[in-house]
Amino acid sequence: MIQYRQLLDRLQEHRDLPDAGLSFLVSCTDPAVQEDLAERSRSEARRVFGREVYLRGLVEWSNVCCCDCLYCGIRASNASLPRYTLDRETLLRCAENVYSAGIRTLVIQGGENPSAARSLVEIVAEISGSWPLMAITLSLGELPFSLYKAFREAGAHRYLLRHETASSGHYARLHPAGKTLERRLECLRELRRLGFQVGMGMMVGSPFQTEENLLEDLRLLQSFQPEMIGIGPFIPQSDTPLGSYPAGDVETTLRLISILRLMMPEALIPATTALATLAPDGRRRGLLSGANVIMPSFTPAPVREAYRLYDNKSHEELDTIKTELASIGYGISPSRGDYHKC
Ligand code: SAM
Repeated sequence: MIQYRQLLDRLQEHRDLPDAGLSFLVSCTDPAVQEDLAERSRSEARRVFGREVYLRGLVEWSNVCCCDCLYCGIRASNASLPRYTLDRETLLRCAENVYSAGIRTLVIQGGENPSAARSLVEIVAEISGSWPLMAITLSLGELPFSLYKAFREAGAHRYLLRHETASSGHYARLHPAGKTLERRLECLRELRRLGFQVGMGMMVGSPFQTEENLLEDLRLLQSFQPEMIGIGPFIPQSDTPLGSYPAGDVETTLRLISILRLMMPEALIPATTALATLAPDGRRRGLLSGANVIMPSFTPAPVREAYRLYDNKSHEELDTIKTELASIGYGISPSRGDYHKC
């Protein structure tokens, strides 16, 4: 067996390992290795962020989507879902709720829908003017450069656009014809050029994924150095073409969070909803494996069920999160939680 302590020492010191070492850590199920990895990663997270977690108030603005991603519950061809888009007043009320809860980042997420997104630009400008101390993060998929630019000028600061998988062959098996990894990465470069802090990430255990794909994901993240990294297990959604595939593995997801924390100590890494959906203690274990962000839901209760990306999706209630954080000696940061290079 590879001397895992030497590997971990080297990863911690150089923020990198040769492919064989990384692959070993990604796939190693030995509890002793996993615990050592998690322990190093959480001390790294504590060195950079202390015992404070950044909260992001998540508002799922619309489940109308032009895309037909084969894994996603809000895909265009899923006729079993009631569709909704929050109107201006509701979205402003959600922003107010996030701000009043003391949270200084609002995340507006929705299906990919360029024409509806256009009507959102003005509302983003209004939110930015009304709550200038609150960061605005968008997650609206692939949009034309002009629209990204309009959002940036309206006052948005960050953009989440997971790359989903760094292998173009694998990407093609998860997405409909016409959607390419190349365009996804081009969007990310455009967003960065516009001055957005960008978030990338992949689903762990998505159908057809190989260990080599995960290594490619790590290398892509390492070369792009996104400010935010969102990874979570794939979870099947029964109304999608990939609904009968097994869910991704929680332990592998946790190991990847830890490896990424050691590779990129300052990255903003959430303990994702998908992780909390698959394991009752997923959020807590995500934090103890090096994550430092949580995204409680501020989506209005009547439409939450309709934002069904995958089956049994959990909703991150603020009070539950606070109790859970206190139980592991963590608190909530009052700051906006921007990315800072140490
Ligand atoms: N439309 C935007 C986009 O494409 O980035 C944001 C919404 S999209 C639904 C948000 C993320 O949900 C995706 O990037 C994907 O990783 C995740 N997701 C979708 N379906 C999933 C599933 N079945 N299991 C786990 N994650 C899923």
